[in-house]
Amino acid sequence: MPSAISTDVLIVGAGVAGLWLNARLRRLGYSTVLVERASLGGEQTIKSQGIIHGGTKYALHGALTGASEAIADMPRRWREALSGSGELDLTGTRLLSDAHYLWSPGTLAGNLTSFFASKAVRGRVDQVKGEQLPPALQDRAFKGKVYRLAELVIDVPSLLANLAELAGDSLLAGERIEPLDDGDALVGLRVDGRDIRAQRIVLSAGAGTADLLHALGLNQPAMQTRPLHMVMAKGANLKPLYAHCLGGGPKPRVTITTHPAADGQWVWYLGGDLAEADGVAREPAAQITAAQKEIASLLPWVDQSQVRWATLRVDRAEPAQSGLVRPDNAFLADQQRLLVGWPTKLALAPDFSDRVIAHLERDGIRPQAQADLADLADLPRPPLGVPAWEQLLP
Ligand SMILES: Cc1cc2nc3c(=O)[nH]c(=O)nc-3n(C[C@H](O)[C@H](O)[C@H](O)COP(=O)(O)OP(=O)(O)OC[C@H]3O[C@@H](n4cnc5c(N)ncnc54)[C@H](O)[C@@H]3O)c2cc1C
Repeated sequence: MPSAISTDVLIVGAGVAGLWLNARLRRLGYSTVLVERASLGGEQTIKSQGIIHGGTKYALHGALTGASEAIADMPRRWREALSGSGELDLTGTRLLSDAHYLWSPGTLAGNLTSFFASKAVRGRVDQVKGEQLPPALQDRAFKGKVYRLAELVIDVPSLLANLAELAGDSLLAGERIEPLDDGDALVGLRVDGRDIRAQRIVLSAGAGTADLLHALGLNQPAMQTRPLHMVMAKGANLKPLYAHCLGGGPKPRVTITTHPAADGQWVWYLGGDLAEADGVAREPAAQITAAQKEIASLLPWVDQSQVRWATLRVDRAEPAQSGLVRPDNAFLADQQRLLVGWPTKLALAPDFSDRVIAHLERDGIRPQAQADLADLADLPRPPLGVPAWEQLLP
């Protein structure tokens, strides 16, 4: 019979939400165990575009109001962490771009007037021209307007490696999760047959959370998933671009981020409207054709003959929404010792951890237990997640 473990906070799911929370709790002196069934960040987190939104995108369709402070403050929280002076030491995380750009390919679309008038945007957007343009847009044939947003883009693989280091010995590979009850009360979890007792249990398992709740005999909070069909392009001739390209509608027509592949080439990662409903309905070959057409029309000077393409399907997991999705806050619900939530954005991982810490403080949960780290160190540890382009476009 494997030995039992006691810890202050047991977290299930090591995407950005679980890893960020884990590192913050450890820094506050809590003992933690973070259980992951596959790889660290290997689901939504490593498939994200790495944009640390301040919410400007949402102002395009008026969903961001002046009261939505949580997301507006995220770029500052991340910048401080990246410089080593914030709530976590993320000096090992690579910054890919100090700014994300808003790019209007033609004349300014009418809906941008209210966008620029919005309180959330004022003072945070500057127009750039000439040499200040992102490298991929510096071409004589380029027409359109480009605005610099005070948002950053990070390299997610290096973030995951950094957070894994901050996790020390708290990481545990584990697949089979069952409730550990004391009478009626949940006092911990049984992970692959090993009892782990904890003062609080946090489920931050992304799309896996609904099944975990089911395994614990619960059906709340309800979860929804929204699919995306992303496109990757890899080529030695591609130059960096981090931008939302605007179409006529409220969502960016295409959002392009650029990521370094292990062989030194750049990978363009394409999301936005291209990857939503119509894109989800397309087969991969048709989705690649649609992406090639977009690039040919928006960036006609890019030679596509040297570019290799692939697509990736992935679901975003969030709390079920009856009305308007609120993209500007993380979500957390509690039931006795159990806390369950979704950050809803990579950028909102700090907000997710704030919410958990506020619950611990409200309930008077202080660091108490000494997890037997020697014991954990002997157990299997989950590997780091691998970017999709390394698997699909090696
Ligand atoms: C294509 C795409 C692009 C995006 N781009 C951005 C962006 O640019 N900026 C931004 O802010 N947000 C972005 N997002 C959203 C962002 O990626 C997610 O909100 C965020 O990564 C969610 O983190 P998470 O930790 O909740 O989930 P995940 O990263 O999915 O992690 C959950 C973890 O739980 C594990 N798990 C599941 N079930 C179990 C179980 N039973 N036992 C143990 N472990 C389990 C999984 O293996 C996984 O590692 C994007 C999302 C997608 C899909």
